[in-house]
Amino acid sequence: MKIKSVEVFPAPLPLRKPFAIALGVMTHSPNVVVRIKTDEGVTGYGEASTWHVVYGYDQRSLVQAIKQYLTPAVIGMDPFDIEGIVKRMDSVLPKNRMAKAGVETACQDVRAKAVGLPLTRLLGGATPQAIEVLAAVDIVPVAEAESLTRLWVEKGFGCIKIKVGLNVSEDIERVRVVRETAGPAIRLRVDGNQGYDRAQAMKACKAFEAFDLQWIEQPLPDWDFDGLAELARAFSTPIAVDESITGLHDVYRVARSGAADVINIKIAKCGGISNSLKIAHAAESAGLPCFLGGCIETGVGTAAALHFAASCPNLVPEIEMPGSDVFTDDLLMEPLVVNNGTIPLPQKPGIGVDVNEDKLVMYGDLARKLWSET
Ligand SMILES: [Mg+2]
Repeated sequence: MKIKSVEVFPAPLPLRKPFAIALGVMTHSPNVVVRIKTDEGVTGYGEASTWHVVYGYDQRSLVQAIKQYLTPAVIGMDPFDIEGIVKRMDSVLPKNRMAKAGVETACQDVRAKAVGLPLTRLLGGATPQAIEVLAAVDIVPVAEAESLTRLWVEKGFGCIKIKVGLNVSEDIERVRVVRETAGPAIRLRVDGNQGYDRAQAMKACKAFEAFDLQWIEQPLPDWDFDGLAELARAFSTPIAVDESITGLHDVYRVARSGAADVINIKIAKCGGISNSLKIAHAAESAGLPCFLGGCIETGVGTAAALHFAASCPNLVPEIEMPGSDVFTDDLLMEPLVVNNGTIPLPQKPGIGVDVNEDKLVMYGDLARKLWSET
């Protein structure tokens, strides 16, 4: 089997509510969908997710990287040869793992469809009916944090992630009100998105000790392994890294430096499913648990993430996939809806979803209009 074509569709699905973190505010999905067709008539989909304020790549740059560099590199290759495809992409374009993840996950979809199996089975995983997901409280005023928390608990979520990192005093108040509203049984995580300096992180982490958090994610810039290690030593709440981990070698650096107790894997950030599995195994070898983060994926990326989660042995429950409800529209014929804190694992071959091709075209047009305005 050979890859015959690679097409890229920017998919700026509008968010129902803007999403605010320490680094910026998102109003539309900045992700792109990749469609691969083979000479044997199999079509696969993948998603490259990004957010330029965190990763340095915007939607346009992902489209350009995939069209100009990755597509000619993989045309004619066998989609079953995942390792060869990853190596080829790395040879024509260093870094930009987000763009490569779009191509790699589309190849994963193709090969699982070609053998008629849900992707998780091909990856050595099980096929649970559903995967637990968390809810998010972004950087909002305290009253809104309280009402959001009440809503998430009513909807049956067992875990809430709170965004922090802009203002230490306001962050502490937001975390306090979420804990008080959620009660002691709900698992809480916070994520600083690199927003603090060392002094601010010390102050915030000290206060966060009172709120029984699962972990404190990326309170410091991605490069500050020494600062993270200092926090990990100073406090009993575990420290997690996200932006500090993009490749396999980062796991070794984290393990050696003691910079974190937990590792955030994101399929796009880590360059696809095969690299994500390698990172999970490397972390397992160092005794570091992982969790699956997200970048507000649309249904395509969500489906791939669910299959990865079902097959990855070293993953703490509750993945970060928002489901279809955060968007006003969907790219899938059957949206992946969160129900009682879980998303159903698509059971059909591949990543198991049917993409609405008309919507791909429609959102491509919207993307070009939005780009022309910026
Ligand atoms: Mg994060």
